[in-house]
Amino acid sequence: MLICPVCTSPLSRHTKTFECPQRHTFDIAKEGYVNLLVSKKGVSRPEGDHREMLHARREVLGAGHFAFLQSALFKMLEAALAKDSDSLSTILDVGCGEGYYLGTFAAQQAAAGNLNQAYFGFDASKEAVRLAAKSHPGCTFFLADVFHSIPIATRSVSAITVLFSPRNFQEFARILKATGNILIAIPTPDHFKELREYFDLLKIEEEKEQRLIESAAPYVVRESHIVEAQPSLTAEQVHSLLTMSPNFRHTARMQALKPLPASIPTTLSVQLLRLSLP
Ligand SMILES: [Zn+2]
Repeated sequence: MLICPVCTSPLSRHTKTFECPQRHTFDIAKEGYVNLLVSKKGVSRPEGDHREMLHARREVLGAGHFAFLQSALFKMLEAALAKDSDSLSTILDVGCGEGYYLGTFAAQQAAAGNLNQAYFGFDASKEAVRLAAKSHPGCTFFLADVFHSIPIATRSVSAITVLFSPRNFQEFARILKATGNILIAIPTPDHFKELREYFDLLKIEEEKEQRLIESAAPYVVRESHIVEAQPSLTAEQVHSLLTMSPNFRHTARMQALKPLPASIPTTLSVQLLRLSLP
C-alpha cells in the first residue's frame, strides 16, 4: 500500500521505521506519525500550516461551527464507499491538518462496526501530523510532500478527501482504484461575506470551480452541493476563524478596519464536489 518516496518500491513496517528493499528508511515518530519527507537538492518543501493556524482550526472545528460541512461530507463519503466492492476500503485525506474530519469519520465508522476501512492522513506540516496522530489513534498520519508525489501504491485507494487544500490530480488518478472517488471542499465567494465589511480579506475567485473541473480531467463531477451555515460569532471566534484561513499569512488582513459588534452573523459557505471517472 505504502511505497518508498525515493524509489517507489513497497515499504514494509518495522518496529520504529518503514523500510523499502533498497534500505531507504523512514522513521515512525513517538506520537505515531510516519515521516516520509525526502530532502532533495533544489526541491523546496511546501509550506505547512503554522502551529497557531492548527490550534485555531482545532478550536473552531471542535466547537462545531463546521458541523454542517462534516455531515454533508460524511454522507457523501459513506455513499461512495458503499459502492466499493473490495474487502478493504482505503480513505486518504490529503492536506489533513490536525486530522479532525478523517479522525471523526474513522471514529464514527468504528462505532458503527465498520472495521474494513483504513484511514490515511497526509500533510506537509510536522506540527499538523503530530497533533493528528496524538488525537486520532484510529488513523495513520504521514508527513509528506503530496504536491510532488503521493507515496501510495497505484490503484489502491477507494476515496480521497481534499478539504480546502491543494489538489494533485495527476497523482490522484494514479493511486485511485478505477471505481474511486475524489471529494473536494472549496469555499464559495459567499464564504465570510459579512466579515468583509470589517476586514480586508483575500478574495475568493468566482471561477475557482471551473478551473478545478478543467484540471481534474479525466475525472468528472458527479455531485456538487453548496452547504452553508450562519453562526453568530464573538470577536474572539472570528479571530480564530480567520487564523485558520489563508488570511492568517497576511498580517494586515487580520486587523479589523472598524470595531466589531458583540455578535457577528458569519456566513460559512462551502461547495462540496464528488468526482469519479466517467
Ligand atoms: Zn526506496
